[in-house]
Amino acid sequence: MKFTSTRNEKIKASAAEAITMGLAPEGGLYVPLEFPRVSLDEFLGLDYEDLAVLILSQFLPEFDNLKISVKNAYADAMPVRLKTFPNKFAFLELFNGKSAAFKDVALQLLPHLLTTSLHKIGENRKAVVLTATSGDTGSAAMSGFSNVPQTEVIVFYPDEGISQMQRLQMTTQTAKNVHAVAVKGNFDDAQKAVKLIFQDQEFEKKFEASSFFSSANSINLGRLLPQIVYYFWAYSQLVTGGEIKSGEWVDFTVPTGNFGNILAGYYAKRMGLPIAHLICATNKNSVLYDVLSTGTYDCNRDFYVTNSPSMDILVSSNFERLIYHLGGAKLSEETQAELANSGKYHLPKAVYEELKKTFWTEKVDDQETQATIKAVSNESHYIIDPHTAVAYAASQKLKPTNYNVILATASPYKFADTVEKAIGKKLDKKGQPQALMDLEKEKVTQTKCVEKNELEKIIEEIYDKNN
Ligand SMILES: *Cc1c(COP(=O)(O)O)cnc(C)c1O
Repeated sequence: MKFTSTRNEKIKASAAEAITMGLAPEGGLYVPLEFPRVSLDEFLGLDYEDLAVLILSQFLPEFDNLKISVKNAYADAMPVRLKTFPNKFAFLELFNGKSAAFKDVALQLLPHLLTTSLHKIGENRKAVVLTATSGDTGSAAMSGFSNVPQTEVIVFYPDEGISQMQRLQMTTQTAKNVHAVAVKGNFDDAQKAVKLIFQDQEFEKKFEASSFFSSANSINLGRLLPQIVYYFWAYSQLVTGGEIKSGEWVDFTVPTGNFGNILAGYYAKRMGLPIAHLICATNKNSVLYDVLSTGTYDCNRDFYVTNSPSMDILVSSNFERLIYHLGGAKLSEETQAELANSGKYHLPKAVYEELKKTFWTEKVDDQETQATIKAVSNESHYIIDPHTAVAYAASQKLKPTNYNVILATASPYKFADTVEKAIGKKLDKKGQPQALMDLEKEKVTQTKCVEKNELEKIIEEIYDKNN
């Protein structure tokens, strides 16, 4: 299995190289050159661990310790569960892991994949993992990488917009190798600033004798691959549970920001999973809704802080991978150049038509989100978080006829303020995930806050102190 760059097909990399580097040279993203096929007989009925090994080994055949990696990643906290309901829908809970959001599925495994990758390519230097977060990646990365040898993790989170719980999850972390830094501005400011560091070779040179930069953002291939697994697993559970017949088409509805989660669903489809539609649900920051319903991507617009903050994004990085898979490296390179120059681009008609066959889309505002949390609580006696509510509301508007699996991406306790306001009462403390208990009593140890042009300075400071 070989990987290439979305912006230059001459680049070829092994999985170990791709996972180690995070971003391809010239700023492209690593993508598989082809999609391996997995048939229904091969995967139906497997438990999560065996299924994960089956799927991941298609992309990482040279990783001979996958079984152990998967086992260790999920031993303490298995993030994934399926909750089925009458009327052909289910919530796929992805939030039962260490930080109570779906990012855990990938970030509990990524450190294992990265350690194997470093070993495979004979890299003895330290990986300095730089990550921009809209809230959930940060805590998941910090807990996933806590005390992992040969790694130093620095997460940058926007000073505005994230929930109090999200902030505390990062600022109370104590492992010596994980650091959280607030950046004045919104997520896009933080993400842009981190991407610039990856392109600043002069800066990287300062560390090169002992370290190199890598990323735990969803641009890293090692984030994307573990997410393919739960699409297969949900399908398998539905068949085993008698909800659908083997081979029957299903739809998945995904609350979307950086397009990482839903892209993994697209990969599952390309690998042969019978997915008819992927419903891309966005909040008021509806840049993806717009491109999927008009063919024009345009981030010249206001940025809103919403009650589903992990989706408050205008530059949706992984969409570039979809463009590559549908239109090739030339189109991907051109559109990204246009985006950099003018903040917008148009997709060619053929590519857009192709994309519309699979991707459906809807947008949902804060009020609808609140109303949906209340309605689902009343009708199904199940409490969802605001991100999951965006997905549920979007699918209600589109009325899919296939069995509809809604990806539940965060614990309602992580966004307690919004949820309690919606349902008009306090959440029952009994159901609170272990990961969030006592957070308010813990000591805040991470207090750094910088301007968006000060990231390099703070990286040097942290680095000098720890090395
Ligand atoms: C990150 C996140 C999303 C968006 O996922 P993408 O892969 O960025 O599209 C949705 N919901 C929650 C709770 C998240 O943490």
